[in-house]
Amino acid sequence: MAIKVKIIKTPELSFFEQLYIPQILKGMFITLKHLLRFQPITVQYPEEVKELPPRYRGLHILPGDDDQKIRCVACKLCEVACPTQAISIVSEPADDYGVERRPKIYNIDFMRCVFCGFCVEACPCDALRMGMKYELSSYNRAGLVHTKEVFFEPTVRSEAPRDNANFLYEMGTGKILDTPDDAEKVKELTGIYTPK
Ligand code: SF4
Ligand code: SF4
Repeated sequence: MAIKVKIIKTPELSFFEQLYIPQILKGMFITLKHLLRFQPITVQYPEEVKELPPRYRGLHILPGDDDQKIRCVACKLCEVACPTQAISIVSEPADDYGVERRPKIYNIDFMRCVFCGFCVEACPCDALRMGMKYELSSYNRAGLVHTKEVFFEPTVRSEAPRDNANFLYEMGTGKILDTPDDAEKVKELTGIYTPK
């Protein structure tokens, strides 16, 4: 079978386009327009901090439960979901805690993390979130491996997460959450994962 070849002709330039002067003037006019409408966009960081969009994916946090204890149950789904293998978890029994396990060690290596958020989406109990902090620097490599002691935020209450809630709601009712009135239903469904 013969190979079909599509020939695309180079568009021919008109007389004015061949002069190039109108195009140069047009470009200079656009530059001049921006010069006259100049608005400074520089942020004087760190004195001035820019407001971030609510869905910003910054450094991770481990939210607390109602008793301000770590909500994570060390299921390791986030570890499996991480495409860069940045998460390492060692679990331990948690008889005193109302759940089977909790993380003894929970580390995130920020030299590997690409802030994709897959770990947060994989978590079935809203025990991991992307936070709003972005200041990440260290004098050595070890300082870029954050332990749970660094990013556990006991006072951040874990309420119905948008993505997980949608998933659970869909599973429970065959419907996607799309109105604020469904919030109570989501709380009810997400509550099945709340550690006692
Ligand atoms: S944000 Fe992405 S790369 Fe970073 S720890 Fe989570 S899954 Fe891994
Ligand atoms: S953060 Fe969530 S997904 Fe990761 S181990 Fe804890 S409970 Fe499991």
